[in-house]
Amino acid sequence: MAKNHFIQHDDIHCSFCGRASAEVTSMIAGAGVYICDICIQNSVEILRKNAHPYTQQKRATFQDFTLLKPSELKRALDQYVVGQDEAKQAMSVAVYNHYKRIQSESLVGHLEEVEIEKSNILLIGPTGTGKTLLAQTLARILDVPLTIADATTLTEAGYVGDDVESVLSHLLQNADFDAARAERGIVYIDEIDKICRKSDSASITRDVSGEGVQQGLLKMLEGTVAGVPPRGGRKHPEQPLVNINTKNILFICGGAFDGLERIIARRMKTSTLGFTAEEGAHIEANVALFPEVEPDDLLKFGFIPEFIGRLPIITALEPLSDEAMLDIMVSPKNALVKQYQKLFLMEGIELEFRTEALQIVVEKAKQRKTGARGLRSIMEEAMLPVMYKIPDMKNVRRCIITRGVVEHGAEPEYLLMFDEQLRKVAS
Ligand code: ADP
Repeated sequence: MAKNHFIQHDDIHCSFCGRASAEVTSMIAGAGVYICDICIQNSVEILRKNAHPYTQQKRATFQDFTLLKPSELKRALDQYVVGQDEAKQAMSVAVYNHYKRIQSESLVGHLEEVEIEKSNILLIGPTGTGKTLLAQTLARILDVPLTIADATTLTEAGYVGDDVESVLSHLLQNADFDAARAERGIVYIDEIDKICRKSDSASITRDVSGEGVQQGLLKMLEGTVAGVPPRGGRKHPEQPLVNINTKNILFICGGAFDGLERIIARRMKTSTLGFTAEEGAHIEANVALFPEVEPDDLLKFGFIPEFIGRLPIITALEPLSDEAMLDIMVSPKNALVKQYQKLFLMEGIELEFRTEALQIVVEKAKQRKTGARGLRSIMEEAMLPVMYKIPDMKNVRRCIITRGVVEHGAEPEYLLMFDEQLRKVAS
């Protein structure tokens, strides 16, 4: 196709309305045809009016969007996510700036020309430490749609295209097909470390699929208009595409980054050599080094520079301590213990967990090496037999989960109605 040009000649007329170029502000030339700015505007209007119903829905503006301050965002995160203060702080600021940036699009004045860059976030931390939870909680606090994608599925399909759009299809679905809502949503891409080259040496055989996916994601992270099948996938080829602009979508990428700690340690040892060589020699490679990560380390890990460039906020999550794991079961707004207590209360029974019982849950979860993710299933295993019996039991006022219940499926202690004495009830 011929390249379009802005032109300004008296003998040129708009092929649509016939106006001469002197009568309009600008005229664009195509292959042997011209269109003036007035006709372009009219065309846009016509397109907008006849748009597909999905895109016709009410477009919310950012003026009606109440933006919480970073400190308010952090406090809200605190209610659901235990610990991880640094990550919470970094994310609160990033999210605040992200939505400020969107609001600034309507800003006029001497700073109008200044373009605030996107603050996509990279979360680095062991599995089950709250990366996904942080993204989910942020979306809930901000009341924006969220979709969680897995980078490894993008790898399997090779070069992106369809897959990128499938991520956006899910976002659109989660936004109830309101394109405007989707356009200010959050996309969380898990297992991002799996789309890296496997070795940091300048190898001859390159892991093209990993790099290919990184390349494919670049445009989406930065901002592009993608034609998205609203119902997703290739199963409905007849469906009209909905245009989604990813410019204002916040991308949060997360991964466990196994092996990154060795790269960081190596760099730190090398850089300390010469003046504090002894100190350097003692740097041990472990995940506690994650907060020291620098973009160069990620490059060595196997990310392409452009990809790292599009994730300017890099923050690390700490491995969870025993106390944090225990706290996770008790403190957050929808903590496991609170959920079970609510279920029992619906049977008219108070539920109590002895601290030693919860400590055993933590011990068992640690053995699984899946962070806090294991807590729920271990708790379920312990509580299942109790929950099976409870609805049939009469006169139980209080049920006490002891260490033995979790350790070897012992019977809980029950306090009976009208019975001040704690005693075991034979089932
Ligand atoms: P990942 O870091 O692998 O994305 P998730 O965020 O999916 O881990 O955590 C798995 C589950 O463990 C969550 O659903 C949540 O219940 C619990 N969890 C993990 N970390 C925390 C945390 N810091 N605070 C509260 N709950 C947590």
